[in-house]
Amino acid sequence: MSYTLPKWYDLHVHFRQGDAMSDYIQAHLDMGCAGVLAMPNTKPPVAKVFESDDSIDSWSIESYRDMILSAGGDKFNDPLIPLYLSKDTTPEMITKGAEAGILRCCKYYPPHGTTNSEHGFPIEKFMENGVFEAMQTRGVILNIHGEEHGLSGEDYFGENSNAEDKFYNTYMTKLRDKFPNLRIVCEHITTKTAVDFVASSGDNVVATITPQHLLYTVADLLQGLKYHLYCLPLVKFEKDRKALLDSVLDKNNIKFFAGTDSAPHTTKATECGCAAGCFTGLIAPQLYAQAFNLNDDNFEAFKNFLCFNGPKFYGLSIPKETFTLTKKPSKLSKLQTKEGLITPLTLGLGIDTLDWTLEL
Ligand SMILES: [Zn+2]
Repeated sequence: MSYTLPKWYDLHVHFRQGDAMSDYIQAHLDMGCAGVLAMPNTKPPVAKVFESDDSIDSWSIESYRDMILSAGGDKFNDPLIPLYLSKDTTPEMITKGAEAGILRCCKYYPPHGTTNSEHGFPIEKFMENGVFEAMQTRGVILNIHGEEHGLSGEDYFGENSNAEDKFYNTYMTKLRDKFPNLRIVCEHITTKTAVDFVASSGDNVVATITPQHLLYTVADLLQGLKYHLYCLPLVKFEKDRKALLDSVLDKNNIKFFAGTDSAPHTTKATECGCAAGCFTGLIAPQLYAQAFNLNDDNFEAFKNFLCFNGPKFYGLSIPKETFTLTKKPSKLSKLQTKEGLITPLTLGLGIDTLDWTLEL
């Protein structure tokens, strides 16, 4: 069984900063990735648009884009970098950035909710301070990490509610009502609550889904404490995984698309904690194929999810170049980078062979 597809876009990835960026970028190119949306939670964050803006002490979209291009990202088609929304973001920044064509999307992080998110600012502020208003007016896309922050244990992860449920139930309907034309990407959704929100919204509200959230539940994380599966938002329950799978397997799906949230960590677990993020460079299309149980019946749905829905929403061109997925086992190994070894997700789960082989 073999399927040829147009090269795809990973519309949620972390390339971080420093010497190893070129290794992470190469891993993405090697899995048939034609383009990316590279997240701005770097150190320092990408919290301004123009390099010449010296009112804010952070990286700019201009400078981070240059770093990506010179680390091998010039082989990507039109890489996208969202602005990190912070207390310093103003409606004027949005308007000027959009007018210059450099600002096309902004990322909302719940303060202290995930890796390098300490610069985040509560979402109600952006609803009131004119930032979302300016984004709606200019057609700038909002990439939203939808988890409530600062919750107590049972509210953070309970059987009937968790940080993502809570965020969607508290803010998302309000946000949609107040800014009905704001273009929103609900990032790395993990719950039935988020699936239902996206499905019940207009075509301006869409979502990315990672391979791990389609394949695994919290039981896979807990059984043997497989910390390579520790990411935020956490993997959830079977009812949630089923809702995610149903949404991507739907033949009419135009709203749910690939965004791996691939995040490299040379040191994943320490004696007193664990870094959040799963590394799926080199292996993401193979894992998505496994999650779909890719076959002739769902090939169209798979192609829409991996190759078409995302670029269509962002107005990116569909590449003419292709890659091929074949149902035959392929061996996995760790990725050697300039900053150390990175363990791909499945290898970290004790699986050293994938069901699918990818060829460019
Ligand atoms: Zn992410």
